[in-house]
Amino acid sequence: MKNVIQSMAFPFTFNYLCTSHRQNKVIKLHDKYFKPFISAQQIDDAVSRMVQEIANDVGDEVPVFVGILNGSFMLTSDFVKKYPNPCEVTFIKLASYEGLKSSEDIQRLIGLTQDLTGRTVIILEDVIDSGKTLNEVHRIFKNEKVKSLKIATLFFKPEAYNKDFKLHYIGIEIPNTFIVGYGLDYDGLGRDMPDVYQLKTTQHMTNIVLFGPPGAGKGTQADFLKEKYDLVHISTGDVFRYNIKNETALGMLAKSYMDKGDLVPDQVTIDMLNAEVEKNADAKGFIFDGFPRTNAQAEALDNLMNDKDSQINAMIALEVDDEVLVQRLLNRGLTSGRPDDADEVIIRNRIAEYYKKTAILKDYFSDQDKYFGIDGVGSIEEITERLSKVINSL
Ligand code: AMP
Repeated sequence: MKNVIQSMAFPFTFNYLCTSHRQNKVIKLHDKYFKPFISAQQIDDAVSRMVQEIANDVGDEVPVFVGILNGSFMLTSDFVKKYPNPCEVTFIKLASYEGLKSSEDIQRLIGLTQDLTGRTVIILEDVIDSGKTLNEVHRIFKNEKVKSLKIATLFFKPEAYNKDFKLHYIGIEIPNTFIVGYGLDYDGLGRDMPDVYQLKTTQHMTNIVLFGPPGAGKGTQADFLKEKYDLVHISTGDVFRYNIKNETALGMLAKSYMDKGDLVPDQVTIDMLNAEVEKNADAKGFIFDGFPRTNAQAEALDNLMNDKDSQINAMIALEVDDEVLVQRLLNRGLTSGRPDDADEVIIRNRIAEYYKKTAILKDYFSDQDKYFGIDGVGSIEEITERLSKVINSL
């Protein structure tokens, strides 16, 4: 493995997740889930760097770029479009039976179709992992009297590489995980995607944010949905009330805010939420009720889900008219014993807090195509049905 990377002094190493909102979606191909890994923009930057480096080295020669099909069709196309000087392009097609299996079998399906005697040849590979395709590539070129043969790969998995062939140009070094997108497939699917995704190895969770103003019926619906979908329900309001009842330090802190209908400070709420999620490490998913209520909380929740190799799948909002809410809460106050339900001024403040600080979260989740608004007026069963329809479609 030493000296494999000959001319590229600083290959770009990539080992963190994309966090851009638009690409924050886990996708399913056949039976597997994949999470966003490397964005189209990051790939474009890497291709540009490789083009520049190769063009500098090649100088006035007219090189022949040889794409290795199928995976490198997208790289080859993007690469030659960026290449600043005249060049030729051809392909060879090797089948490696990759998928998720690891086989040493490489089959040559289409070999060289033109004479490359005396030419400067640069192989364009989408990904090099164990390096087994390079055996076949070198076998193909052994008897060709090319002037020079160099290997360029967009992605390289150093941990998996077990050959001695030199790799002359590397776009992005990645850990030894299975990736799809930008020409790479899982059992036929995924080649068309402009971004690269990474196989998710942890259990797939369903995480729902139940959203809506106070009194919209989030708690009632969460009780049904947690049974139906085997999810853990976390209501931040309930956790605060539990702490107040037990006179914990957290309860005492939260009480002063809650009594007025104000929001408890973000950091206090976020820390508490993190702890609640950690208590349920084996959960198949969560229903978050009353959280997030601010942008800072939404970002904290995204980070927490990312750390768990998961994500929020949907924010489902129960939409209910303000006056209906006030009436519902006053009625609830007759029996709930909640001081913040007993006083119309406090109720209206809670609703105002919702519109001032919380309703903006609709945009946060809409931007990720994760917002679903449903009519929150009707019988409990009807509303459960509406919610279930959304969850079943995720
Ligand atoms: P709820 O039961 O969801 O209506 O919440 C009751 C009260 O708990 C709110 O009025 C807030 O004072 C506090 N609270 C609950 N969730 C949060 C949150 N995510 N952020 C800040 N305060 C919260």
